[in-house]
Parts: sequence; structure tokens; C-alpha cells
Amino acid sequence: MRRSQMFRSISAAAGLCLLLVFSAVLEGCGDSALQSEEAGRTVSERIVEAIPEEELAAADAAQMEMPEPAVPENTAAEAAAAETAVTEEAAPEETAAEEAAAEDAAADGDAQDSITEEAVTEIAEAENDVTEEAAAAVQTAPITGQGRVVVLDPGHSANIPSGSEPLGPGSAEMKSKDTVGTRGTTTGLMEYELVLNVCFALQNELTSRGYTVYMTRSSHNDSVSCRERAEVANNAGAAVFLRVHADGAESASAHGASVLCISGSNPYTAATYPQCRKLSDCVIAAYCAATGCYSRGVFETDQMSGNNWSRVPTALIELGFMTNPEEDTRMASADYQALMVQGLANGIDAYFAANAQ
Ligand SMILES: [Zn+2]
Repeated sequence: MRRSQMFRSISAAAGLCLLLVFSAVLEGCGDSALQSEEAGRTVSERIVEAIPEEELAAADAAQMEMPEPAVPENTAAEAAAAETAVTEEAAPEETAAEEAAAEDAAADGDAQDSITEEAVTEIAEAENDVTEEAAAAVQTAPITGQGRVVVLDPGHSANIPSGSEPLGPGSAEMKSKDTVGTRGTTTGLMEYELVLNVCFALQNELTSRGYTVYMTRSSHNDSVSCRERAEVANNAGAAVFLRVHADGAESASAHGASVLCISGSNPYTAATYPQCRKLSDCVIAAYCAATGCYSRGVFETDQMSGNNWSRVPTALIELGFMTNPEEDTRMASADYQALMVQGLANGIDAYFAANAQ
């Protein structure tokens, strides 16, 4: 008798947690698109990370010198410092209502000064609660993958295919098959190393949630063009094609995560737009909820060949800026990578949950 009462209480509490988490994520799915003009400008600024030849050579040399594992091992002190940085960074963007104001303030570089330490602590505590709830919900949630196929695309590689390929099926516009990507200005970590580590961990997480997961590359020596990456997803009949990148900018203050999605007037694969947009909204919302990362939102662009060649629901997430010292350090830490993985997996779960409604 007592045991069954206790079981009912636990079930009710778990159910409530699940409900809260899912409604939080789904609410985020409804965020409207950012202005397309702004998207165009921002995207064109960073789509082609044109890196001078010397830098490429230096990157290659650095890669050769860099022994495995690629991610530097973090001391407890570093991990603690990174955690503190997460809390402080996350605080200004905590509520959706204050997001716009926080963005303006962040542009001035003084967002963090505008809140009191008490507020930071309160928000940090609230955020920890959310994370714990999310973790509990994940543990008690039924298997959600149901064998659905997810293809993960860890961006770039140490072995970049030479030459160019059409921007999309039938396009006369040619684009480089791939670029070297960005690198951590503080950690020295290459983008292709960071995202492969995250994708390996995400593959494990999604597999444990019941998904069938394939990767477009599994080593730094794999040479895969953007079109070929999309073909992996097409040939696998993927239900989701998630492309994972990290951002870079000239300004060290640029920070936050964003998702690149095709537009509704994409000339190559417009039919997939509604699903791409839903996936993009779910992924950015869940990722930022789990990590506390600042959300730059979803940018619609038809200039990403990997997205254009895909015939399945596709989103490209920029996990954060490797050119921002705090984000670079944080993203290299194992603790934060675990949060990133939870957020991305939650986003995929939320996408399928939203589709089922
Ligand atoms: Zn990239």
C-alpha cells in the first residue's frame, strides 16, 4: 500500500517534470525568424571563412603537432572556472522577455555589469534547477528514438577536398567543396576537432535514446565535400540531418549559438522548409536551455551547399564562437560538452514530439 502510494507520487512528479521540460522546449520552437536582411548580412560575413594560405599551412602544422586526444584535458580548476563563466554568461539572457534588451546590452559589451551579483546567483540557481529537471526527465523518459535515422555531420576536416561543386542541384554557382573552418583563439583547438568530439558523444547519447545514428565522417582524415555530406543523409533516408559547426568572427566579443536553415524560397529543396525550420527552432531552443548559451536565433540562408543538397529535414548549428575566449574555453571542457550533447539530443526529441502533435 505504502509502496504503491510512493510509486504514484514519484510517477506524478516525473510526469510533471516531463511536462514542464517539454512545454519549455516547445515554447522555444515557436520563436519567430530573425530579420532576413540581418540574417543575410551575418551569414555572408561568416559563411566562407576565407583563411589565408599561411594560416592554412599553420593550421595543418598545428594539427600534425597536436597528438590525440584533440580536446585538451581540463584540470578541475579549469572546469570550475569554465562553469563559473557559463553562469555569468548565461545570466543576462535567462528570460525570453529580456532577450532583446540583453542583446542590445551585449552589443555594448556591458550586459554583465547591468545585473547584480545576487541576480546572477538567483538565476544561476534557477538554471541549475532546470538542468537537473531536464536530466531527470531524460532519465525517466520513454525511449523516443524508435529507430529513427539521424545523420550527424561534424563540420570540416583536416583533410579538405580540393575544388568546387554546385551550390545546389542544378545550380551554375560553384562553391568550395569545404573549408578548414575556424579555430579556438584561446585553446588552439580546431573547429573540426571540437565538433567531431561533440558528434561522437551525441551519437552515443542518441543511440541510447533509441535512434539509429550515422556520421558523415569519423576521423580527421576523412575528406568529404558538403554535397557528399548531404548525400550521406539522403542515402540513409535520414529523419534528421544535423550539421554541427562552431563559429568564428574577427571580433572577440561575438558570442552565442545560432542555427542556419534554408529559406522558404530555397531554389533546391524548398519542400523540406517547414520541417527544416521546425527542427532548427527546436534545436536552438533546447541547446540554449541546456547550456545557458546565448541564443542568436535561427538564420535563414540558401547559401549553404550542404543544406541545399539535402532532401531531408536539415539544420546547421553553430555551437558558439571559438574566437570568443570564454566560449572557446568553455566549449573545450568535458563538463560543458556534456551539456551541449544533452541540449542537441533534447532538441531532436522535441522536434519529433512537435511533429507528433
Ligand atoms: Zn564551420
